[in-house]
Amino acid sequence: MTNTPAQDSGSCSVDLSMSEISESTASQTTEEVFTTVVESVEEPEAPSGFSEFGFSDALLKTLADKGYKEPSPIQKAAIPELMLGRDLVGQAQTGTGKTAAFALPLLERLQGDSPLPSVLVLAPTRELAMQVAEAFKAYSAGHPHLNVLAIYGGSDFRSQINALRRGVDVVVGTPGRVMDHMRQGTLNTSGLRSLVLDEADEMLRMGFIDDVEWILEQLPEERQVVLFSATMPNEIRRLSKRYLREPAEITIKTKEKEARRIRHRCITMQNSHKIEALNRVLEAVTGEGVIIFARTKAITLTVAESLEAAGHDVAVLNGDVPQNQRERTVERLRKGTVNILVATDVAARGLDVDRIGLVINYDMPFDSEAYVHRIGRTGRAGRSGEAILFITPRERRFVGNLERAVGQAIEPMDIPSNAEINQSRLDRLRTRLSAEATSEDKPEEETALLQELIQRVAQELEVEPGPVSYTHLRAHE
Ligand code: AMP
Repeated sequence: MTNTPAQDSGSCSVDLSMSEISESTASQTTEEVFTTVVESVEEPEAPSGFSEFGFSDALLKTLADKGYKEPSPIQKAAIPELMLGRDLVGQAQTGTGKTAAFALPLLERLQGDSPLPSVLVLAPTRELAMQVAEAFKAYSAGHPHLNVLAIYGGSDFRSQINALRRGVDVVVGTPGRVMDHMRQGTLNTSGLRSLVLDEADEMLRMGFIDDVEWILEQLPEERQVVLFSATMPNEIRRLSKRYLREPAEITIKTKEKEARRIRHRCITMQNSHKIEALNRVLEAVTGEGVIIFARTKAITLTVAESLEAAGHDVAVLNGDVPQNQRERTVERLRKGTVNILVATDVAARGLDVDRIGLVINYDMPFDSEAYVHRIGRTGRAGRSGEAILFITPRERRFVGNLERAVGQAIEPMDIPSNAEINQSRLDRLRTRLSAEATSEDKPEEETALLQELIQRVAQELEVEPGPVSYTHLRAHE
């Protein structure tokens, strides 16, 4: 369904770096199209938010029910293009609203009249496939006749086949499993109208690129291809040139304001000091949820064991953890029943848990793209986050690459001292005591006693006792 209008030939580029639209270096035609898109991005926001896209009342109601008021920049730029049926290359990270940017227009264009799948989304991990499928289901609340199915390795093949037989409109899957179903004829792609490659650079990094290319080769001649990627390595550019037709190009760079929500720091140390440093950082830097990235499965286990020995509640996510347990682990992290997760890059890919306040790079990531993906696990849903990188003296020369990749300085820091750790423990204790003291379901006497205790301790230690607001307390609960 590449019904690109002739006048739309060429591509358009929207770069929202530092909240500004940067200059396009492309051809005249590109600039013309670019200007059109830029205008639509910069227009004063219509109070109706999503209504300017020509969405159905049912979809507008679903979005209103979900509390979406205004489209995000990538949605503003991508939705009009996708509603026209254009191919599109989008450079954007998770957390920008990119799932809705493709899911909403593709759902809206679905006729629901075909017995065969109309939309196929390829995602690098089971977790991301499940998340995207859930998003499609949520957005199609107003179209109950539409069926969405997630297919990924590690889950029952039979039930996937049965669901596919019953009829599915949107399939979201990992490349390997999608290819298996296509090869054995249980997934018929001859009716596909749109294909989305989500986190294409991750699929490349995980070695799925041949599978992805095989799938692209099997697509019907008339189809729309949408490619999203956080970074644009050459191989992804090649794919895009080869399989996408005159795509709209959209780049959403993290705005400076948003980027600054994540503070990047690094500590230089010898390998042998890492465990000790980790324990100290965990004591001194209080984060809501913590993910520790290690390079190998073996290191995740060593780190988890030593943290457990130090009294922390820890979960591990690596390639050896079976699928059903991985889902449980992610759920525990989401709910806060476990606060620290030790993971390998591959296992934590696509992990979307809002309450991650701290990412510790226990080992240097393999490259700057891996760093971008790791730190993308924090600072989600408008929250702030911290990223701390452990490096050995020899690894210091790679820090510049990482700084360029995130467009921010990675500040050096020292291993937290005893004084800092004590101060942090004190802060936590004070917060907990204050929470107890201001809790409404306590007998008055007990509250008064606690408040007096806090005052006294504060005087003795010469620290400021309050006031502590409820919202502040909740963040630490
Ligand atoms: P994504 O970048 O697709 O991972 O989306 C990040 C989060 O933003 C998800 O939890 C979405 O539900 C949410 N989201 C996406 N678009 C909007 C919007 N226009 N308004 C509010 N929340 C949104």
